[in-house]
Amino acid sequence: MDVVLEVKKVSKIYGTNNHVFQALKDINLEMIKGEFVGIMGPSGAGKSTLLNILSTIDVPTSGSIRINGYKVNEMNENDLADFRRDRLGFIFQDFNLLDTLTVKENILLPLALANANPKVIENKLKQVATTFGIEPILERYPYEISGGQQQRTATARAIVTNPDLIFADEPTGALDSKSALNLLQTLKKLNEQEQASIMMVTHDSFAASFCSRVLFIKDGAIFSEIRRGEQSRKEFFQQVIHVLTVLGGGGHHDVI
Ligand code: ADP
Ligand code: MG
Repeated sequence: MDVVLEVKKVSKIYGTNNHVFQALKDINLEMIKGEFVGIMGPSGAGKSTLLNILSTIDVPTSGSIRINGYKVNEMNENDLADFRRDRLGFIFQDFNLLDTLTVKENILLPLALANANPKVIENKLKQVATTFGIEPILERYPYEISGGQQQRTATARAIVTNPDLIFADEPTGALDSKSALNLLQTLKKLNEQEQASIMMVTHDSFAASFCSRVLFIKDGAIFSEIRRGEQSRKEFFQQVIHVLTVLGGGGHHDVI
């Protein structure tokens, strides 16, 4: 089994002198290619800090991170920029689409930046547009489409380069429940059919129940971990809620 992510003793300390705060404490974890990992935990637990550090947007105070064998915490800023563009995918809560580009242009931006061959670009566009059901809106601008369509566009953009690892921070946070379900089903499909490796931070148990494994973080440390295994999604949902209850605080247990 290919290890896509290997995290060893990662710590993060914010501030200096009298105002230091340890946001992450000796985090160890491993992700196998094709896993869909959820990160949950109360507000302020360190979820976004962890995701930002693993996705190379921020740097750890100590510890090491390997993505597909590459020691990302030892790369210089130039190499890291190329690495992010070519090998990582990002999905944010607020979509982060460029308003001056059409849906099609937004999706193809990472390939254009990587100077991909036009034929490759055209084929890839067809493929992702079908996967995400966005063929009819390819020529529209972000402000002309719904929030759900914007997030599907942002997700299509995140996966268009076949990244080694996709990071998502609260991707359903700004969506209505129908659009959220649609996005989660699409992520699950990418995960199952294309072996996409996905790490998703969420405070929503329903979203977490689509994962194959969920890590719970409390006070900057991994508190617990559960795997879906042979359970149905609803059974896993109940298990997520149970751990959140033990963990205390944070979870929203509204939808199923
Ligand atoms: P979560 O995403 O789980 O809600 P965060 O990772 O955003 O939590 O934050 C974890 C802790 O680190 C919080 O107590 C937060 O206040 C603190 N923190 C986050 N970013 C900074 C920063 N840039 N400087 C100082 N403290 C920070
Ligand atoms: Mg956060």
